Amino acid sequence: MNLSPRDLQRLQGVHADLVRVVQRAAQDSPMPFVVLEGLRTRERQAQLLRQGATKTMNSRHITGHAVDLAPLNDLDGDGDLDISWRWPHYFELAKHIKAAAMLEGIEIEWGGDWREFKDGPHWQLTRRSYP
Ligand SMILES: [Zn+2]
Repeated sequence: MNLSPRDLQRLQGVHADLVRVVQRAAQDSPMPFVVLEGLRTRERQAQLLRQGATKTMNSRHITGHAVDLAPLNDLDGDGDLDISWRWPHYFELAKHIKAAAMLEGIEIEWGGDWREFKDGPHWQLTRRSYP
């Protein structure tokens, strides 16, 4: 699949290495996906914190080291792709994103692998390799 103009717009300000992973995944992944969010202002992060959608102000979205991706699936069988919030789709997509990162030689981590507050759409460059 090709990233849409909206996806590309949402990748603006995101670290080039993370963009490379997303682009490689878009090329290779049999499961289509969309970019939900990339760079985030401190104001928006504070708003998400108030809403309980995040637990931290120390988000890698603020520095351009994180993106949120959502798998697309024809959930209602009408032939159109919908954004899926179902975990099995996130696990499936995660395999392809991880494969793309491996091919690009870029160290990333998935919010779905976190022990607490699992975050299925969330991908970030590791703090170890990208402090
Ligand atoms: Zn995120």
